Amino acid sequence: MPAPAPAASGHDVPFAAASPSPAYAAYPTPRAMDDGIGPEAYRQALEQSNAAARPLSLYVHLPFCQHACFHCTRRPVTTADRRLAEAYLSRLDREMVLIRRHLDPGREIRALRWGGGTPTFLTLDQMGDLIDRLDARFRLAADRDREYLIEIDPRGADVFTLRHLEALGFNRLSLEVLDLDPEVQRAINREQGRGMTEQLLDEAERLGFGSVNLNLVLGLPRQTRDGFIATLEQVIAMAPSRLSLFHYRHAPERFPGQRQIRSADLPAPREVRVMLQAAIERLAAAGYVHLGHDRYVRGGDRLVQALAAGRRRDDLVGLGVMAVSRLDALHVRNPLRLAAYEAALDRGELPTVAGHRLSLDDRLRGAAIEQLTCDHHLDLSAIGEAFGLDAEAHLAEPLARLAGAEPQGLIVREGPRWRVTPSGRLMIHRLAATFDAYLDAPSPQPEAPPS
Ligand code: SF4
Repeated sequence: MPAPAPAASGHDVPFAAASPSPAYAAYPTPRAMDDGIGPEAYRQALEQSNAAARPLSLYVHLPFCQHACFHCTRRPVTTADRRLAEAYLSRLDREMVLIRRHLDPGREIRALRWGGGTPTFLTLDQMGDLIDRLDARFRLAADRDREYLIEIDPRGADVFTLRHLEALGFNRLSLEVLDLDPEVQRAINREQGRGMTEQLLDEAERLGFGSVNLNLVLGLPRQTRDGFIATLEQVIAMAPSRLSLFHYRHAPERFPGQRQIRSADLPAPREVRVMLQAAIERLAAAGYVHLGHDRYVRGGDRLVQALAAGRRRDDLVGLGVMAVSRLDALHVRNPLRLAAYEAALDRGELPTVAGHRLSLDDRLRGAAIEQLTCDHHLDLSAIGEAFGLDAEAHLAEPLARLAGAEPQGLIVREGPRWRVTPSGRLMIHRLAATFDAYLDAPSPQPEAPPS
């Protein structure tokens, strides 16, 4: 049955609006969380997670950075003093102890990720100390098929860092490149020569890292189509196994560092779409396959596992300030401010301050968003079958909004199947946002990190 025509509402998503929508690596986003959920609900969810025996992943948030990049939305702790990390590592250890009490010690950690901030802000000794603590508190897998990933700022890492990380058990790297155009780099206060990335890629290959991802960002100040394509061609020539194309979100009222960026230097949304179109074409020609969620992978990077992992729903335990945990039907978050995180642990309490319990409606909307962002289509029959209900009837309201994209040529309806057109791919986050029930909720300050 065709969805009704879209009704005008405050939630209507303007498909050509200037600021990008969330990227929806997970739904609901942290905007759905409120302070009605705290440590007790988290403890219960950890224990229920044992009974369900789902795979368990760990995310560790390391909030320190040596320099402030103007475009940043993470509000890291900016300092050159490595000793500040010591107190943080001991709080992380307390958090591990509190969580471990509720986890079955037999559960193995097959996926670990360190994000930030800049995880490589830690000294080599501090990194070793953190792995030792994680290993002592949890059961870290040691076989080749585990996925231990660390985010790296190439300005703060060298071949010795990679050798140390490999010895600690990491087998996946994610390098922040953003854009290689010096004009763009100056505009975001992040000067980073191409040679830094090349040196790390060479060493990563020599050491046998199974996967190296490079992150690029579209929509940065002073970015032009030609400049971005030049960056992309240099990056493709480096042949990383994975590439991610993220979108810059300009919100200087929320992120004070962005006030250093002149609005006049930002590329127009239409120019950003032209860059994205050109990038998609070049990546396809170079043999990269879309993995979903703005990520691309080359065939050599264990493609089948990568595709499966992109859909896998492990239980995720987040450690550290701002960290998010997702345990099936419960999502929780730690404080956004370092002082509040440390104070809770100094009182001997789990630092959970906000959360959200997923409803059937959340899960249905999440399934629709995942199909749109990963497969570029929406199959309501398949969703209905998976949930045992009439998905078209349940999702009538967001489908009415999505229908507003049809006259613009962004999506085509074919019975219960909606197909995203090549133009629609360039605005996939906006199409997905039609299913976001929390789009108008206030966003946490600063943003919770992806986990
Ligand atoms: S963009 Fe990355 S390196 Fe730069 S300040 Fe933000 S978290 Fe730190």
